[in-house]
Amino acid sequence: MRSGGDNIMVILSSPSGVGKTTLTKKIQQKNQSFKISVSHTTRKPRSNEVDGVDYFFIKKNEFERLIKENQFYEHAKIFENYYGTLKKNVDESIINNDIIFDIDWQGTKQLSKIKSLNLVKIYLITKNKGELKRRLLSRNQNTSEEIDKRFKSYEKDIKHWKDYDYIVINENLDVCFSQIEKIIHSHKKRKLPDFN
Ligand code: 5GP
Repeated sequence: MRSGGDNIMVILSSPSGVGKTTLTKKIQQKNQSFKISVSHTTRKPRSNEVDGVDYFFIKKNEFERLIKENQFYEHAKIFENYYGTLKKNVDESIINNDIIFDIDWQGTKQLSKIKSLNLVKIYLITKNKGELKRRLLSRNQNTSEEIDKRFKSYEKDIKHWKDYDYIVINENLDVCFSQIEKIIHSHKKRKLPDFN
């Protein structure tokens, strides 16, 4: 991976439905230096998603070709679909930007193995499981089967919190956002965040 000088790479992971996508977009809007890493996926686009903005939506055989050609820094199979971060996109972005990754624990593990990255790993959770279920239902973007699958994966997913530098509870979006901003700014200045 090419060096981006002092530029940082922020990973935001969470069980599905915690509000990660909203927060990722908010960080990018408020901090001009940040670019969101747009992943490739074989998942079907949701009605509100735009190809090349939310994801690059590609076919399974195309994704498997990219794996074979070693073009991903990380990739994972999640809920029967592939998701991955293309090396080329990251290498281009990091030269002039900080990057936010909305990826799962499997991808985080893979990126962590690449030494010399300026990674900041944040794990987001809701205050309890009931709140997560409420969010998944209110999102109204998945079938009830998919909601069930995502809810059940919570236990498996949350076991990986130890692989992260920070755990942030998203009880209130504004509070959660300001905590993430503090973490980010402290890493840009290379000191520990002061939450008081
Ligand atoms: P969704 O289908 O709800 O957009 O995303 C499902 C999960 O895939 C989320 O936890 C999201 O963070 C994760 N994800 C999205 N893109 C990537 C990627 O490029 N790599 C990995 N490892 N996970 C990803």
